[in-house]
Amino acid sequence: MFLQMVAISHIGKVLLVEDNIETMRLVSDILSEAGFKVFVANSGEKALLRVDKVQPDLILLDIMLPGLSGYEVCVELKKMPTLQAVPVIFSSALGEAFDKVKAFEVGAVDYVTKPIQGIELVERVKTHVSLYRLRLQLEETVAERTAELTQRNAELHEAKERAEASNKAKSEFLSTVTHELRTPLNPIIGFSELIRDSLTDEELISYVNYIETSARHLLGLVNDILEFSRFEFKEQQLTYSEVNVRELLIELSQAYKTRAEEKKISFNFFIAEDTPECAYTDGKRLRQILDNLLNNAVKFTLQGEVIFITEYNKENSQIKCCVKDTGIGISEDQKVNVFEKFYQVDSSMTRAFEGLGLGLSIVQRYVELLGGRVIVESVEGKGSSFCIEIPYLQQPL
Ligand code: ADP
Repeated sequence: MFLQMVAISHIGKVLLVEDNIETMRLVSDILSEAGFKVFVANSGEKALLRVDKVQPDLILLDIMLPGLSGYEVCVELKKMPTLQAVPVIFSSALGEAFDKVKAFEVGAVDYVTKPIQGIELVERVKTHVSLYRLRLQLEETVAERTAELTQRNAELHEAKERAEASNKAKSEFLSTVTHELRTPLNPIIGFSELIRDSLTDEELISYVNYIETSARHLLGLVNDILEFSRFEFKEQQLTYSEVNVRELLIELSQAYKTRAEEKKISFNFFIAEDTPECAYTDGKRLRQILDNLLNNAVKFTLQGEVIFITEYNKENSQIKCCVKDTGIGISEDQKVNVFEKFYQVDSSMTRAFEGLGLGLSIVQRYVELLGGRVIVESVEGKGSSFCIEIPYLQQPL
């Protein structure tokens, strides 16, 4: 009963190609006894005809055959896509001119010499069959994994497209809403100014001032969102012209000096003597970058000072503008996040500082558009330094 089972569940299929009837019988018996299912062919031509149907796990191939030689048969086998990986062992009588190098060159994995030693043959065949099976298994696993990965990639691609579409819809919505919000703010600011000019009562003037400051603040926020949604649409482009940068820096410094002093913090600014007065740049964007950095410095500093320093590097025609403060600082692990859109170190509803978390992402994008970089250094509880380095062109682009 047990023997019958072994015979049915053979351990592999071997195609034996041998023209000598005696040897064929002997080898066939040895391999069958070892548990292999043996198929035979007494010529290379017959072997090539049978092999596709048999799909053996190994081919034991005599070299000296009538008609096609074993070498020629092997070369043909290696051309067949479904069989080229099947191991071929050559067999040859010691007296025959047996070129072992040629055997490997045409694709054999091994060889045995006649007269065949049963134990040796069985061991060699077993080894190569199990190696072949392992190889098939491996190929199958790789194919399965590749299919899984391809499927996963397709899913990811689809998810990415869906996310992009929804992001675009969100940005379009943001853009529409901010446009709509901006429209009524301009008359609020304009009419506040008109009303203030016609008032004499100090208390009423202070109320109108409050309306105007609040409306301007709101306009600033709305503009930031609009700016940001333009980035999302990749609509943002620079407009280069000759800009009196020195004047721009002084104007900004004076405005922020007043704001800093209102908060009882000191504000100092230095512009290196050798900084050329004018440069070809996008003045509006440069102002916006520095405005955001100065605004943050004053906003996040409760005591101490804010310093605004500009240096000019003649070697590479760049200016470096640094805004340093003695404010709350940023921890090392949060430093990488602050340029992310909508990121705020403290994003709780009870946070002490107002803002949308867009300022630094706008700074970074504009600085990059201008061909420069932002450098941030900060120590939590001690203060921060935000520097930008941008080209300072003396000629139009
Ligand atoms: P917002 O100021 O509107 O919150 P920003 O994009 O300008 O948004 O800044 C993102 C976050 O980076 C801020 O919320 C704050 O946590 C941190 N940050 C920016 N500048 C400073 C600074 N000078 N000092 C301390 N923290 C800062």
